[in-house]
Amino acid sequence: QKQQLLKFKHRQTQTIDGHEIPLLVNIGSINETTHLNDMGVEGIGLFRTEFMLMNTKSAPSENKQYRLYSDILHLLNGKLFTIRTLDIGAEKALPFLNSLPEENPALGLRGIRYTLQHTSLLVTQVRAVLRAAQYGPIRLMFPMINQVEELEAIFDIINQCQTQLTQDHVTFGQLSYGIVVETPAAVMNLASMLPKLDFISIGTNDLTQYAMAADRGNPLFTRDYPSLSPAILSFIHLIISTAQAHNTQVSLCGELASDPHVAPLLIGMGVNELSVNLPAILEIKSALSNISYAQCHLLAQKALSLVTIKALHACVYTQAT
Ligand code: PEP
Ligand code: MG
Repeated sequence: QKQQLLKFKHRQTQTIDGHEIPLLVNIGSINETTHLNDMGVEGIGLFRTEFMLMNTKSAPSENKQYRLYSDILHLLNGKLFTIRTLDIGAEKALPFLNSLPEENPALGLRGIRYTLQHTSLLVTQVRAVLRAAQYGPIRLMFPMINQVEELEAIFDIINQCQTQLTQDHVTFGQLSYGIVVETPAAVMNLASMLPKLDFISIGTNDLTQYAMAADRGNPLFTRDYPSLSPAILSFIHLIISTAQAHNTQVSLCGELASDPHVAPLLIGMGVNELSVNLPAILEIKSALSNISYAQCHLLAQKALSLVTIKALHACVYTQAT
């Protein structure tokens, strides 16, 4: 089985009828980029930058971050590099940021809500990313966005960073901008935000948690936190149709994309690009190489018509991969 999978290593990801699917990876540190160039992937679809804060006593300086992002860009050699701004809070609490205790951390100060309250963290990161962008294409995306006001606040900060860099004669590059769509409010407000964005990425881990009102980290909730459900498919469907109406590319970086049974369904629903965990790469390529693009669409049509989790799972998990 493993030997069988190895033949996909250097291959581009495509369906049996040759429809190419951009496949990217989720990473949390530069160590995970070592073999990226011989994995046959199109780049990094999610760099969880908060992991660089996990074992440090303070947030890395602008120069340190600038060197890190530049090093990854050089390694990527022109492939896509998607950086997510610090997604701190909730299950990613950091001791040195001494945040106040909260009764509901998942509904508390986290993601962009955190960095918009502690703007110096955001400014440092944005400046480092802008400076690194002179060496290659960077997509910058923001976690836990609910509404357009937050985007306005972010773009104000980015404009100020650019003005300051220009005044200081520091060179920088241009970025593409996106958000992680991972709250129900973001789905409902998507049309108002899309004109400001170059791409979006669906974060099904949090979207499921907030749609189901069920803690993503509680192992007792596996039945109440179903990663694949009619509700989540309806959310994804709505996100895609809204994005298509605005000609915006849709990526999906939640765990759902790393499930080889679900990946063909997501492609059939119109997701343009998948970002998966490193260990899932070969299985995802293999699953997609066994199905035609038209079959992916049929699978999506069928799956979207099912109203129970049980029927949906029977449909998706009995597909040969
Ligand atoms: C998500 O929420 O689906 C996601 C990709 O981000 P994280 O798992 O880091 O919250
Ligand atoms: Mg998330």
